[in-house]
Amino acid sequence: MKEVVILGAGYAGLRALHVLQASKEAFHITLVDRHSYHYESTSLHEVAAGTQSKEKITYDIQDVVDSQKTTFLEDEVTKINRDSKTVHLKSGKELTYDYLVVSLGFQSETFGIPGASENALQMVDIDSAVKVNDHLKEKMAEYAQTKNEDDLKIVVCGAGFTGIELLGALVESRPSLAKIAGVKPEEIQLYCIEAVTRLLPMFDEKLGNYGIDHLVDWGVHFLTGKPIKEIKPGSVVYQVDKETGATEELAAQSIIWTTGVSGSHVMADSDFEQRRGRVMVSSDLTDPSHSEVYIVGDVSAVMDKESNRPYPTTAQIALKMGDWAGKNILRQLKGEATQPFTFKSLGSVASIGNTHAFGVVGKTPVKGYPASFIKKAIMDRSLFETGGVKEVLSKGRFDFYH
Ligand code: NAD
Repeated sequence: MKEVVILGAGYAGLRALHVLQASKEAFHITLVDRHSYHYESTSLHEVAAGTQSKEKITYDIQDVVDSQKTTFLEDEVTKINRDSKTVHLKSGKELTYDYLVVSLGFQSETFGIPGASENALQMVDIDSAVKVNDHLKEKMAEYAQTKNEDDLKIVVCGAGFTGIELLGALVESRPSLAKIAGVKPEEIQLYCIEAVTRLLPMFDEKLGNYGIDHLVDWGVHFLTGKPIKEIKPGSVVYQVDKETGATEELAAQSIIWTTGVSGSHVMADSDFEQRRGRVMVSSDLTDPSHSEVYIVGDVSAVMDKESNRPYPTTAQIALKMGDWAGKNILRQLKGEATQPFTFKSLGSVASIGNTHAFGVVGKTPVKGYPASFIKKAIMDRSLFETGGVKEVLSKGRFDFYH
């Protein structure tokens, strides 16, 4: 019997699993993930800020595994050998495949900035997001004892989508953090340090400013055009003058790193031709040198002919890629030709807290409460596409009215 191996149970991997499990063809699937649960990576900032519990954004992978067809292994992928068609796991196990779906997701990108890995908090999975929240609460509790102002300062590094959504959630969690510290919410100081001056370049300036202005009104301090050069224990060093290279330092006890992501290190470790962990795939989403290896989600780069740049990595495109890879494998199993992947973005919406959002749906800008409504519908739809009705009913967002 043919063997399909799926590496990673994120948006792309679970979507491929869903398509493959629905087929009546006879083949076996092995799904590997280092966790026993799937998590909604688009909601990690809420767990980090403490506005959602980790349970709300996770579900058991076994819930979506059809044991008649699929074996789930909780293990970590260390290397893929495309010549011998094998996958090496941390436990020492070796898997053999006829078809492979590589959907190993993202990791934090530090761009080699000194101290970023050691001295800033990362927010890349459930454990690291929980650690951010525990750290924030710990610093607030420390302030109650020491009255050291730096304990009340939270710095978000980078004002991309992740940084902006995190700041929105932090504004919302300020009252509960302030309670721990014994201060007023506005005494908790939120900073964002960003390299460029034109924020959120994917939106027109007016729309981007809508989100930023809200955060400023809510008390967030933006330091823009200030590339971060180093993270020291308890402070961020950023450049203030490009000509002279002069830097300044902001002391803070909570520093959160959200300056971008790269694909899993397994891609480089396995000698894929990759850049920042992303492989430029063929039109049918396969590895250019191996037609039985599909590369999808954050480890994959698909060229957008309109912008002449790879599409940005989002949950939306990951779900579509996983779906397409599953369908192309079914075509190959039947001896048919694969079909080229096509993608039309439905737009993107960034939340700033639970009741505000802004973005573009189709080509239409959306703002405020309607955008927040749409954002929740988008999250519910993603959840449905990987987890089905059961997960939407128990973990979906239905607090539409405020
Ligand atoms: P990003 O690359 O989009 O943004 C990172 C930001 O950090 C940029 O503004 C960059 O200029 C800044 N930066 C980089 N190096 C810096 C430095 N040394 N000093 C200061 N600033 C620096 O990364 P992200 O926000 O993590 O998003 C990753 C991907 O996920 C993107 O494609 C994004 O669109 C997507 N995403 C989408 C959503 C959504 O649709 N709601 C939410 C989160 C992320």
